[in-house]
Amino acid sequence: MLLADRYAELRETTRVRERALFPPQRTPTELELQARWFAGDFGKHFVTTAADKIDIVQFGTWNREAGPDFRDAAIRVNGGEPIRGCIELDVIDRSWETHGHATNPAFEETVLHVFVEKSDREFFTRTRSNRNVPQVCIDPTILSDAFSANISLARPGRCQSPLKDLPEERVHSVLDAAAQFRLQQKATRISRKIDDHGRDEALFQEVAAALGYKKNKLPFTLIAQRLSLKLVREKADDSEAMLFGVAGFLEAPDLGVFKRSTREYVRKLWDRWWPHRDEAQRLILPAKIWRLSGTRPLNHPQRRVAALSMLAREWPAFRRVLGKRSSFAANDFFSGLDHPFWKFHYTLTAKASPKAMALIGKSRVADILANVLFPFWLAEDADLWPEYAKLPAQLSNRRLETAATRLFGGDPRRRAFTKTVAHQQGLLQIYQDFCMRDNSDCAQCPFPEQMRKWT
Ligand code: SF4
Repeated sequence: MLLADRYAELRETTRVRERALFPPQRTPTELELQARWFAGDFGKHFVTTAADKIDIVQFGTWNREAGPDFRDAAIRVNGGEPIRGCIELDVIDRSWETHGHATNPAFEETVLHVFVEKSDREFFTRTRSNRNVPQVCIDPTILSDAFSANISLARPGRCQSPLKDLPEERVHSVLDAAAQFRLQQKATRISRKIDDHGRDEALFQEVAAALGYKKNKLPFTLIAQRLSLKLVREKADDSEAMLFGVAGFLEAPDLGVFKRSTREYVRKLWDRWWPHRDEAQRLILPAKIWRLSGTRPLNHPQRRVAALSMLAREWPAFRRVLGKRSSFAANDFFSGLDHPFWKFHYTLTAKASPKAMALIGKSRVADILANVLFPFWLAEDADLWPEYAKLPAQLSNRRLETAATRLFGGDPRRRAFTKTVAHQQGLLQIYQDFCMRDNSDCAQCPFPEQMRKWT
């Protein structure tokens, strides 16, 4: 992908400038930090507060019992033999003490303590037997803002002028270059996740996150991390109930709150969830994690959890589709996912709809293709750029409209520049690399000058 390399060079021109003086301040929640740690977003090589090198050999699994957040993990200290044990992640280092972990035998197996904030006074992480646990301080400002995306609409930027004078093919070429770069970055990220979690688990987590787009990416990621594909496939008969249970959707104590048409379905879910509930108690998501306002009923998370459950059930067929490396085959697969209850229901408490609805709509499938499957195929060395470049865009969103306003303003070709998934992705990449890093109201942004030179 030569264009991607050219874009990478262009992007480097932004690096000489300082970071924004007032970057958006957002402290991720502990759950978000944990999800992103487990996803490998912070990387796997660290230096402890005592200057030892730590390599994460295995991120482990989310712990369902009392004790640290992740168990069955493995780390290397200064390149030594892998050490197996648990990993605890806190926002503040001293939480180890204030939460009573230092005296709790369940934390004895901890091999790594990860935190974001270091207290003023020196603090050592020690277990009940007085063993010193290596500490790693992570920096959430290195994260892209994948779990949040609320950017206000903007006015046209300085680059509007050179872009409007560029012939259409040249603008396409810039967008293609940025899109290829973005696709490669996604492929690299997925490839890393495959190294960390294996091919199937990595894909399961990625598709789950895409099903949560955009407001519920975090809870969907947590569900797929906490109930691995392996576990869900092993408990095939109970898997749908377990997914709904861990999502926190089966907490209502009274069947009376459900419509008659729903009661039988919910009762079946409860009956299958109840035997697992005590054991999985720690994994149940808090209700407040779900963002429901502004979500269209068709996209309600409960429908999407049902879709995730059907995907797990049909996993062997999904693997065959992956092997075909065709957007048409993938489209057919996702559009064909069906569910007797969710075909006619928006939520567990809503009235049944007289008309059948697709479990996963067209725009979601397009998003899964663009953000999961094509990057995954590229990670497996299949360069399907010509097919990717043809994918039609289904929807716009607030961030895209902001980017289009900044770069193209009132250019009559604006719509034509955002008609494909690839061009939308390219636009988002430019917005992220230039607009989001600009702190000069466009004055010092190198993009307009670079555009004049783009051939
Ligand atoms: S910051 Fe740069 S890329 Fe963004 S609108 Fe201004 S000139 Fe264009």
